[in-house]
Amino acid sequence: MKVVTVIGARPQYVKAAPVSRALAAAGVTEVLADTGQHHDDNLSRVFIEDLRMTPPAYVLGIAGGSHAEMTGRMLPAIEQVLDREQPAAVLVYGDTNSTLAGALTAAKKAVPIVHVEAGLRSFQATMPEEINRRTVDHLSSLLFCPTQVALDNLAREGIGGPFDRLARQAHIVGDVMVDALRLFSGQAPRHPAIADLAAGSYVLVTAHRAETTADPALLSNLVRQLAALAADLPVVFPLHPRTRKALADLGELHRLTEVPNLRLLEPLGYLDFSAALKGARTVITDSGGVQKEAAIVGVPCLTLRNETEWLETVESGWNRLIGRRPETLVSLVQSASPPSCGPLTVYGDGYAAKRIADCLSNWDCSEPIAAEGSQR
Ligand code: UDP
Repeated sequence: MKVVTVIGARPQYVKAAPVSRALAAAGVTEVLADTGQHHDDNLSRVFIEDLRMTPPAYVLGIAGGSHAEMTGRMLPAIEQVLDREQPAAVLVYGDTNSTLAGALTAAKKAVPIVHVEAGLRSFQATMPEEINRRTVDHLSSLLFCPTQVALDNLAREGIGGPFDRLARQAHIVGDVMVDALRLFSGQAPRHPAIADLAAGSYVLVTAHRAETTADPALLSNLVRQLAALAADLPVVFPLHPRTRKALADLGELHRLTEVPNLRLLEPLGYLDFSAALKGARTVITDSGGVQKEAAIVGVPCLTLRNETEWLETVESGWNRLIGRRPETLVSLVQSASPPSCGPLTVYGDGYAAKRIADCLSNWDCSEPIAAEGSQR
């Protein structure tokens, strides 16, 4: 069996790495196509090295522009890949424009779609990621959910289960980011720029979402708040290129570089980032993946959003939604403490990729099957 996997953004490398390994072990031929959505070396090349991946066979070089423009340009480029490779299925991850473009192109060519990280919902209808994940779930034939909550979300929309007239199959397999942590994290000492900081002494910050970076008032508030926080505790901030540009355009980048006790870094590779995360006292982020990783490794997280698709992180007490414009980061960090339940285990045992590969390698689109250890 041959699949074309379409990726394009930083977290998709993290998600694809364990699955690619498992697919190879299961005898599935995988052709990796990178749309180029995250074209920066720090967001893609370093991940191929850190996660010991085979470099993509196709790099389509499509980045920038509006959501519609970027997604639109991806479609014919992906179509050419599918025409050439003639895969049995297209595999996509998560909720980016690359996910949507991969799925839409496959759907138009009647190639079955496999969606990993299916069923996630923030219930914010206008959020770009929510639009992508809903659409892709509805187009997919085989859907792999990280949790029961995700499977239930699909069931409510009529996807999967005995009454799905399109015979789409949805399975709980666990979250492949747990696999990535199991396989790859803990392999590097802390990055030299922060190696002197004692474990549990610093706050790690990431912010990259368009909702954060496109709003000057939000960004300026974040800069003020981080400066105040750095007067209290060391702050480590690996800057996503989009955030760096937005801060520079706003004239705030210079200000931030001058804040004592605040270390602005380039985006970290996966090994460096997971080491930085494990050593942090608290993480402040607007990232979906980082919220989840924090709860899995047992670091309290403050999320710069009003909603999350990773409900379990909030319900367990590991994650607190502090809104896009927090006014009191210092006291929020001071009061963020680990809940008594221990690191979050609801996202699985770190063997989701094997379940996915086993299911996929036995998949016959006309013959519904069940993944081992999963529920339909
Ligand atoms: N990450 C990384 N280096 C960084 C920041 C994040 O390796 O400097 C990793 C992080 O461990 C997680 C993924 O990137 O696996 C999250 O990606 P991102 O925040 O860009 O996207 P999201 O999860 O919000 O879609």
